Amino acid sequence: MPEIALLGRSNVGKSSLLNSLAGAQQLARTSGTPGRTRLLNLFSVQEGRLRLVDCPGYGYARAARSLRTEWAGLMEQYLTHRSQLALALLLVDGRLEPQALDLDAAAWLRARQIPLQLVATKWDKLSGNQRPLALRRFADAFAAPVLGYSSVSHAGRDELRSLLLSRA
Ligand code: GDP
Repeated sequence: MPEIALLGRSNVGKSSLLNSLAGAQQLARTSGTPGRTRLLNLFSVQEGRLRLVDCPGYGYARAARSLRTEWAGLMEQYLTHRSQLALALLLVDGRLEPQALDLDAAAWLRARQIPLQLVATKWDKLSGNQRPLALRRFADAFAAPVLGYSSVSHAGRDELRSLLLSRA
C-alpha cells in the first residue's frame, strides 16, 4: 500500500489536518504538549488504498537534545528505507514567512529524492488578498507546489483528497 508521510513543525496543525481529512474529530489527537508525539501513527484511508503516516513534529525548541536526536534517527530510518513511501506532505504555517527549519526539511527530502507537496495550514487565518501572495511566496521559496488548507473551514480538502488519491 502506498504511504504518504505528513511532516511539519510541532503545532503546525498536523493532527487537525488529519482529522479534517478523515472527517473525524478524534482520529489523531491534537497535541496539548507540542513535541510529545514520538511515534509514527499509521492511518489506512480511502478504503485501504493508501496509508497516511503521521510523523512526529520537528523543531520543538524546548525538546531535549536526546529527543531531537531520537527524532532524527527515527525519521531517517523511516523516510530513507520505506520503499512504499509515495509522497511527503510538508505542512507549513500559512501565516508565516517561509521558515529556515521547513526549508531545511524540504532540502532534506529532496536530497533523498522523496516527492514533496507543500501544504500551507491555517488558511482561514489569511484574508482573500493575502492568500495569492502567500502561495507565491511559498512556491518561490520552496520551489514546490503548494496547497492552502484550513482544518476549520476545510478549504483545500477536496483538492488534497484528489491529490492523495492520484498517488494511490
Ligand atoms: P500539530 O502539533 O501539528 O498536530 O498541531 P495541532 O493540529 O494540534 O494544531 C495546533 C493548534 O493550531 C491548535 O490550537 C489548533 O486548533 C490550531 N489549528 C490547527 N489547524 C488550524 C486551522 O486550519 N485553522 C485554525 N484557525 N487553527 C488551526
